[in-house]
Amino acid sequence: MNQPYYKIIDQEEAIFEHAYKNKLPLLLKGPTGTGKSRFVEYMAHKMGKKLYTVACHEETSSTDLIGRYIIKGAETIWVDGPMTRAVKEGALLYLDEVAEARPDIVVALHSLTDHRRTLFIDKTGESIVADESFMLVATYNPGYQKGFKELKPSTRQRFISLSFAYPENKIETEILINETGVDEDIAKKLIKIGEKIRNLTELGLAETVSTRLLVDAAILIKSGLPLRLSCFVAIAEPLTDDEDTVEALKDLISLSI
Ligand code: ADP
Repeated sequence: MNQPYYKIIDQEEAIFEHAYKNKLPLLLKGPTGTGKSRFVEYMAHKMGKKLYTVACHEETSSTDLIGRYIIKGAETIWVDGPMTRAVKEGALLYLDEVAEARPDIVVALHSLTDHRRTLFIDKTGESIVADESFMLVATYNPGYQKGFKELKPSTRQRFISLSFAYPENKIETEILINETGVDEDIAKKLIKIGEKIRNLTELGLAETVSTRLLVDAAILIKSGLPLRLSCFVAIAEPLTDDEDTVEALKDLISLSI
């Protein structure tokens, strides 16, 4: 696989490498679409590490992470979950949106994220000390938006934390061009639209326009869909279901292009 494209924003690469070297778990904080997953893919590739990704949601339990018994023919066999595999193989375990998962995963996280670096599997009675090169990275969308769960301070304080935000205009323009091959003037127009929407706090959006949405709009434009229509379907519509707000966003987009 080729190195995934990731534009370094700040000191994140060094922080990641030092966290790894010192066996410290890393928490990436920030809103959706700010490059957290891409960064982890990039670092896994750079360090030549196998990556196990778990997209956590409200049904994700410790069983999903650790493993379960399954029935195979006449036998019952144990199957390791992604956390157990990563711990044994010395891989990179990436728990995306960790706060969304069920609270029972916290027990597993605690023994794994402190000096013990041990995973207890109560169903099999095993305790596995993590391989030297095991690393845990998680993401968390801070709870200032409706609908996102909080991460308990006792869990949060077990991680080194790194904040992700929307990049400044020049960098975000570069990301759009590199990621999609769109022309510079189109990229700049999209960035302007993004900037205007991000400044419109009175719209009451749960989350504002992310780099991901701007990338999606650029992909559609590059593929030949008209500029305005691309922005409507990739930016205005995904941001809200409120019809008046969608109309306001469409007006803003039309005025900007
Ligand atoms: P998150 O995990 O924070 O929700 P992603 O990593 O999935 O976000 O990023 C969404 C998209 O935004 C990526 O697919 C990529 O196109 C783009 N992106 C955001 N930040 C960067 C960056 N620094 N370098 C390259 N691409 C980026």
